[in-house]
Amino acid sequence: MKDNLPPPQSTSGGNILRCIERSYWTGAQFRATRADPRKVLAAQQGRLRELLQTVSVRSAFYREKFRHLDVKTADLAVLPVTTKSEMMAHFDQVVTDPAISRAGVEEFIEDSRNVPVPFLGKYSVSHTSGSQGQPTLIVQNQRVLDLLFAFQMTRGHYGHRGGFMGLIDAMCILREPARLAVVINQQGFFPSAWVWKRLPQYMHAFMKFLFVSGTDPDLVNKINDFSPNVLSSTPTTLDLLSLKIDQFRLPKLRQVVTWSETLTVPARRRISEAFRVPVMDNYAAGECMFLTNGCPAGPGAHVNADWAIVEVVDEQNRPVPPGELGHKVLLTNLANTVQPFIRYEIGDRLVMATEPCSCGNRMPKIEKIVGRAADFFWVRVGTGFRPLTAYPFQHAFDYRREVREWQAEQVERNSIVVRLEPIPGAVADVVSARKRLDERLALVGLRDELDIRIESVPRLLTDVHTAKFRRMISRVGIPEDLDGGMRQVAEDFAQAAVQV
Ligand SMILES: [Zn+2]
Repeated sequence: MKDNLPPPQSTSGGNILRCIERSYWTGAQFRATRADPRKVLAAQQGRLRELLQTVSVRSAFYREKFRHLDVKTADLAVLPVTTKSEMMAHFDQVVTDPAISRAGVEEFIEDSRNVPVPFLGKYSVSHTSGSQGQPTLIVQNQRVLDLLFAFQMTRGHYGHRGGFMGLIDAMCILREPARLAVVINQQGFFPSAWVWKRLPQYMHAFMKFLFVSGTDPDLVNKINDFSPNVLSSTPTTLDLLSLKIDQFRLPKLRQVVTWSETLTVPARRRISEAFRVPVMDNYAAGECMFLTNGCPAGPGAHVNADWAIVEVVDEQNRPVPPGELGHKVLLTNLANTVQPFIRYEIGDRLVMATEPCSCGNRMPKIEKIVGRAADFFWVRVGTGFRPLTAYPFQHAFDYRREVREWQAEQVERNSIVVRLEPIPGAVADVVSARKRLDERLALVGLRDELDIRIESVPRLLTDVHTAKFRRMISRVGIPEDLDGGMRQVAEDFAQAAVQV
């Protein structure tokens, strides 16, 4: 395939020829979505072969893991699976650049001033939120970011035209760049928080950004003044914003992009009816941020199968056919050669579509994603209520080395008990954990509203009814006197949480 070119590597930007080269490369990324799937598969397999050869030379971990296989010919299906705990236990052996170490990355992300700084001058680092257990450190090369942005501009851009017209479009946006407003709920080394700020220099010719906090009192005015083409945030935030639709004036808005949580069917309907544009629901993992682009025709997302492989499998890693719910996913990221993820196990449960999609994208489509409930508490603020999501807790505790797991229980409306379970042999530092949580709650304007008690427990237990571990448990539920629109949102999300 012609788009089998390496992404442009320079970040200096500047001259018009380089802009044309990049707009051509970016525009060309659209083509694979309309290509014969056999061609996409061939490109995928070629890249897989290259990656396997790279890791067999440069990654001690994978060299050992694949030692009994011939990486020039072995099928993906015979390669052993890698788990999160293996990845973290052998981090220094996994990475292909000897200058990278787990200790080095941990030290780097300890300091929040490093968020916009490239690690070792060239890499992006982040950690997963740990919403499905142990957080993972992730080091990404520039290629991953180049693909993420190029896919968002083309495959994830509603109304993008392919072929020559797509190239014309790409040229036109040099004159009038796309305008993306991102409503952020979190800060720090979380992929969705920093990634847009790490836009490759040359992409500034294509995109203008507004970053605004979900708790900014002037949020609506700031978005109106910016006049975005694309509005992007989590489903919860967009759903709540759609209740204020009367205050928005967005004549140039062409699409809404959601990420990070489950977008329920009712929430999709409300958001699309309010903003009157298609809703593109991206599904990704921190380990492969460009994994999919949302489908403009409805729920689901198309896998960018030329650069990533998604295997839906059962508990024994056997393939699960399209149309059936898998137990987990094995993910292979073909672009990240610095920290390779090959048949890497993630806990999400997916159903792949059985039919071709009406939107015209011929890439494999994830029809349904189960396993990302939007957990939150409704807390009283003044005379009304506000949702408190899991984020402040996640951000305060997920990356504490001594904490294996946490759980928050809302025992009264504004009274929450937090339990921390230390890793074996460690002691949970409750005082410091409390300080971090207070900082996080202050960011969302709730520190002074809540009565919080933190305790250390030897073991957190699963729910006696469902036998599943729950991080957010409410004993008080949805307030009776929540007003109409908010109540609907709350009930739909509660429903989504029950389905998981
Ligand atoms: Zn589609």
